[in-house]
Amino acid sequence: MSISCSFCFYFSGDTQVVTQISYLQCLSDQFRIVTHAYACIVHAHMIIESQELPPIGTNAYALLEPSLKQCVIIDAPAEAYEWAVQVAEKYSCQIIALILTHGHWDHILDGHKFAKAGILTYGHADDIEMFASPSKMASYAIPGLELKELPINHWIKGGDQLELLATKMEIRHVPGHCPGNVLVYVPCEKAAIVGDVIFAGSVGRYDLPGGDFSVLEKSIKTQVYSLPDETTIYPGHGPVTSVGRERAGNPYVKG
Ligand SMILES: [Zn+2]
Ligand SMILES: [Zn+2]
Repeated sequence: MSISCSFCFYFSGDTQVVTQISYLQCLSDQFRIVTHAYACIVHAHMIIESQELPPIGTNAYALLEPSLKQCVIIDAPAEAYEWAVQVAEKYSCQIIALILTHGHWDHILDGHKFAKAGILTYGHADDIEMFASPSKMASYAIPGLELKELPINHWIKGGDQLELLATKMEIRHVPGHCPGNVLVYVPCEKAAIVGDVIFAGSVGRYDLPGGDFSVLEKSIKTQVYSLPDETTIYPGHGPVTSVGRERAGNPYVKG
């Protein structure tokens, strides 16, 4: 059995309890999944913090390098700016960049606040319309939200090597959920922040505009499953997982 929630991801029958809880949450008129922080994962050098944020439980990530007093934020759901400022202050860091994994409304709602604060923004040009005219997504966003334009300073593409926080970050293009989904792979941290291409035991929706399952499947097989098994996957929704775990057991895309 497989049911879909109205957001960004599918649940499979073999995670039935999770499915039922999440489905009920999706149906609730609150549309606000209880906000909670996942564990703060401290790596040898970099610190990665995450926060599930409104209005539909989208994860924002902060990559922090206290020795440099710098921080990079990945994705900007509602309230992400206020959360990011708090996290940066906690480690005495300055936010130097906002990377958007893709242009869907739930990942860019707070993006304009980062831009207004002078923080450099990064995104893939295949989602340019969503960044430039997010109101076009109103038909599949929560009604009544203010969808503000997000200027992008740096267009990134698959194969780019970013040098941020004195660390090499590889950009991989993973379309299929939407045309401009990228993942940020940080080899020395064994970490990949992937947006909505894959989740723990699930995959991104492919029925939204620009979505395509065969493209998504190819992205996962060639760009996600080719990462080392021990790589931690930090998805756009839900808990962390690993490349090895998904390659061995993801019910939608077999490794
Ligand atoms: Zn999403
Ligand atoms: Zn999405």
